[in-house]
Amino acid sequence: MLVDSHCHLNFPELAAQLPAIRQAMIDNQVGHALCVSVTLSDFPQVLALAENYPNFYASVGVHPDYEDIEEPTLDGLVTLANHSKIIAIGETGLDYFRLTGDLEWQRERFRTHIKAAIASNKPLIIHTRNAAEDTIRIMREENAKSIGGVMHCFTESLEVALHAIELGFYISFSGIVTFKNAFAIKDVAKQVPLNKILIETDSPYLAPMPYRGKTNQPSYVKHVAEEIAKLRDVSYDEVAAATTENFFNLFKYAKH
Ligand SMILES: [Zn+2]
Ligand SMILES: [Zn+2]
Repeated sequence: MLVDSHCHLNFPELAAQLPAIRQAMIDNQVGHALCVSVTLSDFPQVLALAENYPNFYASVGVHPDYEDIEEPTLDGLVTLANHSKIIAIGETGLDYFRLTGDLEWQRERFRTHIKAAIASNKPLIIHTRNAAEDTIRIMREENAKSIGGVMHCFTESLEVALHAIELGFYISFSGIVTFKNAFAIKDVAKQVPLNKILIETDSPYLAPMPYRGKTNQPSYVKHVAEEIAKLRDVSYDEVAAATTENFFNLFKYAKH
């Protein structure tokens, strides 16, 4: 069994073909998927997925790439997170690649999410791009260690991964690890302890090889697991079992 620890099944290109996507999950033994919220306005659709299907879970949060939208508050996030199928806060974090200029609002929003995760006792889903130093610094300043979480779609260095692990975080690899020229990420996936690794698709984006460039979906997480097994020279079953166990260890409100 595998778990897709990060997907966006409410996005129109996936929502429109949900029955086929769910069948493909069964065919590829992908037992569960975590549907991740990116804005407050899309949250009801994300929650509906988790409410309608026992093997889907949901998170609540506002992605750092969205600037001119309803800003989440600490109380608002805690209130929305108070639901048995909401198992995480995010995705949140910092993205200095997609947006530039004065991004103090991103850092403030990130701090609000960390406070909300601690207050609701649910782990964080952190997105970081071109902003590793500030991300780790804010995680330390806000005591993210007290709640933990996952660094999703990890593309940073081994050093950053080890700092995050020290703060109680897991490292999640996406389809990027299967790309031929992704040498640095392949090396990180080789070296991070297996009991700290999660796998994800981040679908509809970032489809792994051999589907690179196509619409991604949770069943393709199998190719991420295969690549990690190959890189570490261990069996596929070992990677599948470890990443699934890691998922349920981290997201303690998720039931098998
Ligand atoms: Zn992300
Ligand atoms: Zn995402």
